[in-house]
Amino acid sequence: MAVLNVAETCVGTRALGPGRRSVVWVRGCPFRCPGCLAPEWIPDVPGRPVAPGALAAELLADPEVTGLTFSGGEPMAQAEGLAEVARRARAERPGLSLICFTGYRLETLRRRPPNEGVASLLAETDVLIDGRYVASRNDDRGLRGSSNQRVHHLTGRLRGADAELNGGPRRVEIRVRDAETLFVGVPSRALAAAYPAPAGAGAGAGVEGGRAALQDTDDHAHPAPAGVDERSPG
Ligand code: SF4
Repeated sequence: MAVLNVAETCVGTRALGPGRRSVVWVRGCPFRCPGCLAPEWIPDVPGRPVAPGALAAELLADPEVTGLTFSGGEPMAQAEGLAEVARRARAERPGLSLICFTGYRLETLRRRPPNEGVASLLAETDVLIDGRYVASRNDDRGLRGSSNQRVHHLTGRLRGADAELNGGPRRVEIRVRDAETLFVGVPSRALAAAYPAPAGAGAGAGVEGGRAALQDTDDHAHPAPAGVDERSPG
């Protein structure tokens, strides 16, 4: 069984898709999109190792969660393990929806999948948001980071939310933890500029597509100026 290399999780958010959702961001991404909010989560270095069953249980700790969102890093790089998370979560809570971000194009995933687990993860996915982040095409709309990214409804489960996914207003939740603040959601360009990931980034992180940004609270109090296109989501 594949053990996942997890960067962060957030249980019970309304900032990353319709309804109340739980999110997992994985570590490691083969892409290097200019403006990625999570450069420190691009290297495939050890994060928190979690078995799929344990991760599914963690994500379902909130009984009101009706969907999961997988982001990163690159979820397709850990497709086998994430597919198992989805299967186990749905065995526990049938009807869960799944949104998955990826830097790959759907056509590539189908014709030349980067690993054997991709087909399994696609089979579990209701909505795939695909493509690499292009800062110049960030239009501050929808759950995709830039307008070149596409929202694919692989099932009909979230078709009613298409307008929200493609062009709805962006939402960000701020979770205050012991010594850190976790930003959950796809930030507007203005918010990303106001709260850039800290330079050097040991404590800071943002993630693909539906991004989080983890920053020391001290860093929040003194956000460094940054160009919008330098810190926007993918
Ligand atoms: S924006 Fe997404 S696909 Fe691009 S480098 Fe960052 S995590 Fe990878």
